[in-house]
Amino acid sequence: MTSENRPNNTNYSEAIEDFLKTVYLLQQNHERVQTSMLADALGITAPSTTEMAKKLAKANLVVHEPYRGIQLTPAGERIALEIIRHHRLLELFLVEALGYAWDEVHEEAERMEHAVSEQLADRIAEYLGNPRFDPHGDPIPGPEGDIFRRDLTPLSDWPPGTSGVVARLSDQSPDMLRYLAEKGLRVGATIEVVSCDPFEGPMTLVVNGCQQIIGQNVACHVLVSQPNSV
Ligand SMILES: [Zn+2]
Repeated sequence: MTSENRPNNTNYSEAIEDFLKTVYLLQQNHERVQTSMLADALGITAPSTTEMAKKLAKANLVVHEPYRGIQLTPAGERIALEIIRHHRLLELFLVEALGYAWDEVHEEAERMEHAVSEQLADRIAEYLGNPRFDPHGDPIPGPEGDIFRRDLTPLSDWPPGTSGVVARLSDQSPDMLRYLAEKGLRVGATIEVVSCDPFEGPMTLVVNGCQQIIGQNVACHVLVSQPNSV
């Protein structure tokens, strides 16, 4: 069950958990997490962001240096991963057990992620068969914060004649998720690229046996893996 070094999330406020989680998520796509970027993502002002960063630096959860931006310490990262574990397990639970659509779960999980204990998270994981990915293909950190990493490529980079499996969506706005579902582009769908127009024109695909046409500005959000590497 719960190991000695596992953070107990009930010790931290929602604001702190959201701050650490958001730094972690921004770090996945940005070399340096700047105050302004973080403030935008959190929907708070830059001065409040700086204030919080100072407070968390004192608690040894982040390092804040002007030229390096805001970075998580190992202790900060551990808390961020625990919250992300809760969030992604909740999303999968809502889809698998309660029949939610994949575009409806994020907001629910945002609210519940802070209230879930490590024990409940473990029970949900067990109930779901200890899954490695959420409904959008995001990796679910394990109880020790371990993450399963994969090499995925945007569908827009795939030339005609190639085929693969939808593994993850990088734009998870409800509108985009509903559109992708209409086109059959869910996690696990098999895709074959039939043709691709030049100048970022439309791509013609066969998705689970049905022909579909999508724009390359949509295809760039569909991350695909080779059929044998899923
Ligand atoms: Zn989510």
